[in-house]
Amino acid sequence: ARIRGTQKALELLAQMTTWIVDEPERYRGQWRTSFFQNDHPLHIELGTGRGGFLLALAQREKETNFIGIERFAPVLAKAAKHAEETGAPNVAFLHEDVTRLPAFFSVGEVDRIYINFVDPWPKKRHAKRRLTHTNYLRLYKQILREGGSIVLKTDNEQLFEFSLNEFAENRFQLRGITFDLHHSEFAAGNVITEYERRFIEQGKQIYRCEAIWEG
Ligand code: SAM
Repeated sequence: ARIRGTQKALELLAQMTTWIVDEPERYRGQWRTSFFQNDHPLHIELGTGRGGFLLALAQREKETNFIGIERFAPVLAKAAKHAEETGAPNVAFLHEDVTRLPAFFSVGEVDRIYINFVDPWPKKRHAKRRLTHTNYLRLYKQILREGGSIVLKTDNEQLFEFSLNEFAENRFQLRGITFDLHHSEFAAGNVITEYERRFIEQGKQIYRCEAIWEG
């Protein structure tokens, strides 16, 4: 059945503590040692939605720990249900807002950040809400290790252009840039997200880049 009310979704999330980490502040600086109990790299996804991307990746890359962050309870509840069916020991979700990242991860704790098809906020006066705005990049720098990276995918050309500029201005090294992911060398290893599937069906091109934080 469809999860409708937010209240209902919240109750559901509270019951799904296997997949939705309660009080994630507890694990700050200790995701490897105390939560996952291994020394594998930590990759996080911002605005993970229904979690399909992360769950598929977690099955493919068993030697990596994955955490998805999503603030909207109804979609995260779907991710948790999905995890009950196909979840792996190397994946977890946080019902949190991206603005609070440094409360959950210590300096240099994160090896990679995935940002997939986030809202483009096309109006100029909303630019600060884009998850690749300088203010957000400052947060990401606080948790990324030196040599760590942000991997961005979007269908929105304006957001892509904006993001490339923001990365460059904040001293990230740009790599792996493509304006048409599905006809590029990155197509083979690509895991398709829920939104990406829709955009492909609409015949849209997908933009993709990596931004390396060299410290
Ligand atoms: N990444 C998924 C995909 O590609 O299918 C979902 C894309 S959807 C357009 C963007 C998601 O990001 C939404 O579920 C939204 O709730 C979430 N989101 C946006 N801003 C966020 C924030 N500041 N903190 C946490 N989640 C956020």
